[in-house]
Amino acid sequence: MKTLYSNFFFVLVFYCISLCATCSERITRELVFIENGKLQLGFDKGNGSLIVYNDLVNPHSFIEKRAVTGLPWEINFYNHEEEEKKDKIIPTSFNYMKPEPFTLILNWSDFSGNENKNLKITAIVTLDSKKALSYWSITAKGIKGKQIQSIIFPKIEGIAEIGNEKLAFPHWMGQLINDPRSVLSKRGTKSIDWNYPGPLSMQCIALYDKNRIGFYASCNDSLAYTKNFSYTLDTLNTLTYKLTNYPSLDSTLDSYTIPYEATVGSFKGDWINAAEQYREWGVKQKWSRESRFPNKVVPNWLENTALWVWNRGMSDNVLTPAVELKQKLELPVNVIWHWWHGCSYDEGFPEYFPPREGGKSFIDAVSSAQQNGVNSMVYMNQLQWGDDTESWEKEQPSNFAVKDINGNMLSHTYNIFTGKSLTNMCMGTSFWRNKYASLCDRAVNTYQTNGVYMDQACTHRRCYDSNHSHSIGGGNYWVTSFGKLTNQIRSKVSDKNNPAFAGEGCGEVFLPFLDAMLTLQVSRERYAGVGEWETIPFFQAVYHEYALTYGSYSSLVTPPYDELWPKEYSPKETEQLLDADFNKQFLMEQARAFVWGMQPTIANYHSFLNSERAEEIDYLLDIAKLRYQALKYLLYGEFCRSPQTDYPEEEIKISKLSIYAGRKGKSVTTFNKKVSLLYSGTWKAKDNSVGIALASISNDTLPVHFSINSEDYKLSDKGKIYITTTNGKELLGSYSNGLINVEISLQPRGLCIVEIVPSV
Ligand SMILES: [Zn+2]
Repeated sequence: MKTLYSNFFFVLVFYCISLCATCSERITRELVFIENGKLQLGFDKGNGSLIVYNDLVNPHSFIEKRAVTGLPWEINFYNHEEEEKKDKIIPTSFNYMKPEPFTLILNWSDFSGNENKNLKITAIVTLDSKKALSYWSITAKGIKGKQIQSIIFPKIEGIAEIGNEKLAFPHWMGQLINDPRSVLSKRGTKSIDWNYPGPLSMQCIALYDKNRIGFYASCNDSLAYTKNFSYTLDTLNTLTYKLTNYPSLDSTLDSYTIPYEATVGSFKGDWINAAEQYREWGVKQKWSRESRFPNKVVPNWLENTALWVWNRGMSDNVLTPAVELKQKLELPVNVIWHWWHGCSYDEGFPEYFPPREGGKSFIDAVSSAQQNGVNSMVYMNQLQWGDDTESWEKEQPSNFAVKDINGNMLSHTYNIFTGKSLTNMCMGTSFWRNKYASLCDRAVNTYQTNGVYMDQACTHRRCYDSNHSHSIGGGNYWVTSFGKLTNQIRSKVSDKNNPAFAGEGCGEVFLPFLDAMLTLQVSRERYAGVGEWETIPFFQAVYHEYALTYGSYSSLVTPPYDELWPKEYSPKETEQLLDADFNKQFLMEQARAFVWGMQPTIANYHSFLNSERAEEIDYLLDIAKLRYQALKYLLYGEFCRSPQTDYPEEEIKISKLSIYAGRKGKSVTTFNKKVSLLYSGTWKAKDNSVGIALASISNDTLPVHFSINSEDYKLSDKGKIYITTTNGKELLGSYSNGLINVEISLQPRGLCIVEIVPSV
């Protein structure tokens, strides 16, 4: 491997902390304020630290003053000539200007140490003219000859406990942590950190007590720059929020301004209110305007999919059961197909061809399934190259692999059976884009598939290889290069089979490039167990009508085992019935996917389940059928808050599975979890009617009663109420004076769509 940086590097951390910590006698704590009637921000006139962050409408002080020990920024320089050292270089001068009532300009200068004598930091903080939001930008000047590795800005210390706290963040689809301080206190790092674009699918995090107030953090980056968001728990039980920006390493610049603003604000309500606030901005961005789904360039068969089968192995384990299920359902069933490839899973990439069952057999099976109306999207990882493969030696891809800041490649061993690793390839190189595009070409043009599921797609890496034709380290080249890749793929492949290109995970910046997004978090318990978190449809709440989401590990059988893995670890039985105790978990996963507006998916489906797990399979098929009658809501609708009603709970058994058979034979871990027996999702159609999807997983009949005000959904004050079940649609009643009252009872495991259709 080529080592790019043979020398050591060090990071200069500017201990701005010292300005106040060591010179506390100089700190006056006299403050300069900006306020807009909704928010009030107060900065120390002596050193510029943020001391006051108050909501004025729902009176609340977010910051515990005594916990603030530093400045609202931190800058780290990269240097590869010396060993790591921590110079206490501090700004000795601070001044501010208030050019207008809502704006503060904060200047730090006169840094100690000769090498930073020209450095000046200027931050501009502006309040929104109408909303409880503030916008933060920062510039570092006098940096010629130096390279900024990261700028943390804003860094907001001392966030005091709000009350009955929850932390909502779009980790892929979305996650809600109960009592985040308690969760963080149990972590070694005491922090939680998310990378964007990547595991964080949107730029929006909400910390709140829904009955009191919420702390809203986001940014308005429309160009997909690499960044991290984090929360850290401090010793005083306060939180520090940090947004870490990674500029490209560039010593020729004398001045650097982060190319977007951070947004910090307060809000009243819960994560849905935060999502609504973010949506106002998100749907106006280029990625929404150019998203493939609303622009009708997604293949019809993909859009029309009623149910996905996600199976693995040879065609008779994948396509045959999918065709059978399609005949039973009488609606479009399509396939996501793993382990079709010639190589062993998670080590032999990208030596996918020829398929393991042989080219002719594969093509015949794919064509036959297509004739029966079943299309196939095949798995190919768009990031990884196995470094123990023959092609790794022959094609010398290491020159085009991602390098970290020390010049090391990023390799990881996923395969626990062989211990062989995969190495991350750099999307910023034409070498890797050409290679991956040629693989897609073969999958679609030669092997006649209907597209590729691009594993690990909605993510990025920071690559520091200066021989690659992209900016070094930070920047936004990954996503722009991903756009080049998908354009290149689409220009190469034949339209004959209407190929689709879907990604793993979801991400706002990938909306113009991917036809569909895999949101597995709907089945998160199955791979992450049970903890102080809940999956929430945060991404769908913002982008549902812009993104087609699908995918789930939801299954009724034990994990499969790749026949190309070592025989010695192969379990006696794979894909056999899971214990019936876990049936309700399956129902829960399918109910969530239904009400959250996803295309339903079953993993490892086999026709024996039709009799062995008849209730569960019937439930899934009923969901697919009912959803198909309500696509204007569940596929095309905009997310709305569901009405308040009673959501009874029950403790159920949860299986945490190794996705594949475990090495020591144990592949299922059991948990208990209290879950809701009733799921709801509310969607507004383009014709202005509202559909409320309800799914019960209860063994008993559930009464459902709710009252809503038509104004809450911006509906006229009179109209009709319908109910649709798999038996058809019926008029339930009408409403007037804006008061909508619904009283129904759901049969055991009942499903329905309640429709509110306003009079024109
Ligand atoms: Zn690179």
